[in-house]
Amino acid sequence: MMENQGNAIIEIQNVSKVYRSRGALFGVRAKDVVALRQVSLKIYKGEIFGLVGESGSGKTTVGRLIVGLEEITSGEIFLDQENVTGLKGKAMKAFRRKVQMIFQDPYQSLNPQRSVLDTVSEPLSIHRLGRSADRKEMAHKVLKSVGLSPPEAFFYRYPHRLSGGQRQRVAIARAMVLNPDFVIADEPTSMLDASISAQIFNILLKMRSTFHVTQMFITHSLAAARYLCDRIAVIYRGQVMEVGSGETIIRSPKHPYTQALIDALPKFKGSGEIKQYGTLLIEEREVNGEPMGCPFYPRCTVAEIRCEREIPGLRMLEEGHYVACFNV
Ligand code: ADP
Ligand code: MG
Repeated sequence: MMENQGNAIIEIQNVSKVYRSRGALFGVRAKDVVALRQVSLKIYKGEIFGLVGESGSGKTTVGRLIVGLEEITSGEIFLDQENVTGLKGKAMKAFRRKVQMIFQDPYQSLNPQRSVLDTVSEPLSIHRLGRSADRKEMAHKVLKSVGLSPPEAFFYRYPHRLSGGQRQRVAIARAMVLNPDFVIADEPTSMLDASISAQIFNILLKMRSTFHVTQMFITHSLAAARYLCDRIAVIYRGQVMEVGSGETIIRSPKHPYTQALIDALPKFKGSGEIKQYGTLLIEEREVNGEPMGCPFYPRCTVAEIRCEREIPGLRMLEEGHYVACFNV
């Protein structure tokens, strides 16, 4: 989707997150963790936006900050142009109706004491929507839409009697029952087998086509993002390295880190001529003094001297394509 196509539904501006250490642990003061540094992103109505990065890069933190499960250290978050940073009380409750998150681990995200019907209709009762019979009907409809059919057969089952894939479908149904504007799916298939993952991906695509819900899809897999997403942001150690359309990120990545991710994609026979960029330094380069430059500097084969000392900001290369690198 191009920059000028419609408004941002979610915008995050210069968002940083520091997890403060809780003081001495066995007499050693643990260091504060800078999980995100000056992250800015726009997500447009109707798109599936991919946030791609390796483990520990800050992806979940982005999601948790947007839905308000984590307190922001600095920066601002907007929903439909309205500042929603640090909402409390009633305003937070109203916001929660519009923005939902699906978590990585369906074994932990569902309450084992609650039946499927209770799990899916609970958000409706929290928000006082409909009467009991209406809620049941809404739960029925949404369970059907995530492929749990016939829904009645699942109503009174408990999570322990569901497979991993079925649990994740229930979690998606619970997120969708309020008809939210924006849903964050945080590595929703990383605990599931490949064939089940494909089904979950297709449910997310269907959620977009039937309910027109905008989504942020968080993944460590560029291949998964390529399959699902209109646009992709690549994040590394808490900083956005590159943003562009799925096509651009896969076909003409400009950041050396994105290029390294492309190099790491499995290549199949018949997938045509595939470029190898060779931008990943196998042995980390040593950094002199406090690290204060580009986070990818220690692994980057094309780094220059200034990359060790200066953080490159995101800049626009062409319409809709942004890169944080001095070298492109
Ligand atoms: P990802 O989802 O990409 O794996 P996270 O957002 O979970 O990354 O974590 C980003 C960084 O923040 C990691 O270094 C992680 O260890 C740290 N972190 C995450 N949550 C906490 C927390 N509650 N307290 C302290 N550090 C945290
Ligand atoms: Mg995570």
